[in-house]
Amino acid sequence: MSSLEDLYREVILDHYRSPRNRGELPIPPAIKSEGKNPVCGDELTLYLEIDGDTVNDVKITGSGCSISMASASMMTAAIKGKSVDFARDLIVEFKDLMTAHESHLESEEENHEHPRSENLGELDSLTGVVKFPVRIKCATLAFNTLASGLDSAGGQAAETATTE
Ligand code: ZN
Repeated sequence: MSSLEDLYREVILDHYRSPRNRGELPIPPAIKSEGKNPVCGDELTLYLEIDGDTVNDVKITGSGCSISMASASMMTAAIKGKSVDFARDLIVEFKDLMTAHESHLESEEENHEHPRSENLGELDSLTGVVKFPVRIKCATLAFNTLASGLDSAGGQAAETATTE
């Protein structure tokens, strides 16, 4: 009923209908990471081209429900051209969003007071998904796929960083 929910719906539909960064990248230099959400039947293949500390390019193929596809589209738009650290932070912040609100479902007012991260941008529109726990995995699929992609891409770099 609220206009905020209408706005959120618009943003999600826009990304579902006109997904950003669809396609594939040549491997190498890109690396490929696959993710599945069997509960809903969502499937994603993520291509990441990482140059040093920067996510140079990102593409996605796959199919699934509007939530999973919109989340994936927003995720690619959010991390493209950004640092690997930013991408990792975004994974944490988005998962926080998907769990933090769960505990506040009883109180709409607390929802409004929940501090929003500017990093999330349009991803914030997926907040409403928390009301439908079975769909949370649809929303987090792209981020789990991103996490495994970053792990396989930056395994060596991360190792060096932690031992320093
Ligand atoms: Zn789904």
